[in-house]
Amino acid sequence: MTQVYAADHVLPVGAEPIRGGAVAVADGVIVAVGPRDRVLADHPGATVEDLGAAALMPALVNAHTHLEYAAYGGFGDGLPFADWLADHIARRPRQAPGDVEAQAALGALLCLQSGVGTIGDASYAGASLAAATEAGLRGTVHLEGFGGPDADPAAVAAALAGRLDALAPAATGLVRLGVSPHSPYTAAPAVFAALVALARERGMTAMAHVAESVAELEAVADGTGPIADALAALTRIEATGRHPVDLLDAAGLLGPGLVLVHAVQLDAGQARRVGAAGAPVVHCPRSNALLGCGIAPVRALADAGAVLAIGTDSPASAGDFDLWAELRAAVQLARAREGRADALTAAEALRMATLGGARALGLEGAVGALAPGLRADLVAVDLADAAFDPVEDPAVAVLMAGSPERVLLTIVDGVLRYRRSADAQRLAAAIAAAEPARRRMIEDRD
Ligand SMILES: [Zn+2]
Repeated sequence: MTQVYAADHVLPVGAEPIRGGAVAVADGVIVAVGPRDRVLADHPGATVEDLGAAALMPALVNAHTHLEYAAYGGFGDGLPFADWLADHIARRPRQAPGDVEAQAALGALLCLQSGVGTIGDASYAGASLAAATEAGLRGTVHLEGFGGPDADPAAVAAALAGRLDALAPAATGLVRLGVSPHSPYTAAPAVFAALVALARERGMTAMAHVAESVAELEAVADGTGPIADALAALTRIEATGRHPVDLLDAAGLLGPGLVLVHAVQLDAGQARRVGAAGAPVVHCPRSNALLGCGIAPVRALADAGAVLAIGTDSPASAGDFDLWAELRAAVQLARAREGRADALTAAEALRMATLGGARALGLEGAVGALAPGLRADLVAVDLADAAFDPVEDPAVAVLMAGSPERVLLTIVDGVLRYRRSADAQRLAAAIAAAEPARRRMIEDRD
């Protein structure tokens, strides 16, 4: 059974946009991408959905999420990074059983609503796995591991391996497990290395928050400062005398298997080394801006050949899971930082949210573009009555106009997982189910 989706604009990513284009899908695979008339003529028995004044493109890759924090929007806003972190940690125990699951389910649905087909999640509780699977998302759920300089690295890795084993039956072809050494300040060097080794052993990706804030640099180099103070009750931080990227480089951990989230606080040499090592970087510009952490050197990383992806991080820092808003922030902040209007183009940003994300998560050749043979992960963005319609440049139009409200449908592996016209009640129910969690985190103050 072949299904054809036609739209005024098809943005394949990696190939030229097509005006009046169509994509044919069969058995979860893209079988044709081209001008509408040709695709229809080649598939005479196909069911056809004409999306009209819309752009059809690869479903987006939100390469760094925390689905489990879907109801944390705005918590700690305006606090310095270390205080924000402490506020975040303090709210967690106020939740009741089921709260994490309700938030993860909401987060997964909000990703689909934003046109996201693939996520790279960092998961504290492991609830993201079931939520992503249930929603029909694709992606990797990286279980977070923590351990200070006094922890036994082998024991931390063994405990995380046990959690991976327990969750493994719930992993599927679409949603895989990974390992997240949380950060260089919450996973001491030996613990960090043991967790990356565990990921490598199991053929999994690893994901870590790295070089996010100035406070992190101080914590990792000197073992002091606001982060060390904020985490004092939980862990000691040992002075390494090094920048987090230098530390990872010296330990032989920089490379394609370790996804670096944030990478804000890099000098030019560090950006070059990250690029040369092939270490993927997930840029989270709204989180970084709102927490006062800075603006990652995206242009320098791109010029260094880094694999660049984009992520919302969690609503706790970015406010929501709107990857379109994230893309616009990436473009705005890169241009503001460099003082150049060409510091990051619309097409480059869309590439980060598609092919770049796919490469970062080890899914290159499976998703991230519209081409025959790739898995059928698609999003259709309604451009009717947008300020960019009639469309001059479709990449600029979707970048500027894209929003969860304009996503008409999201298809993952050939299966329709979200349709705007049919899913309003489902969304409202998920929001209502997560609301008590948010209420408890606001009201149950110690
Ligand atoms: Zn994060």
